Amino acid sequence: MSFYSQNRPAYLNYGALGNVIAHELVHGFGLLGNTAYEDGEEKILWTNHTHEHFLAQAECLLENCNKIGIDNNFWMNCKDTFEESFADYVGVNLAFEAYRRLQRDIGEEKIFPG
Ligand SMILES: [Zn+2]
Repeated sequence: MSFYSQNRPAYLNYGALGNVIAHELVHGFGLLGNTAYEDGEEKILWTNHTHEHFLAQAECLLENCNKIGIDNNFWMNCKDTFEESFADYVGVNLAFEAYRRLQRDIGEEKIFPG
């Protein structure tokens, strides 16, 4: 299945392509997007207030992530996967919000059969 087709309901395009685009954009706003290297030294681009606020919010996502296991046998190391989990979490929410805004203009779409 492709990420986009004009011949399918918009919710599928937003769920597939919209989610991927949002995920990649969000990487620019995570911890990696906050860091630059100048003369071989790591520099934090945000203010201390913004950085501390982000870390406090990130703790909520980490806490939630740490509760998720697969078959109660496999637990993710959420700190190691934080950047991807953050981009997934925010990306899917952005794609959903964008679709909700589109719905105001186009109304309800037919539910995909199956
Ligand atoms: Zn990613």
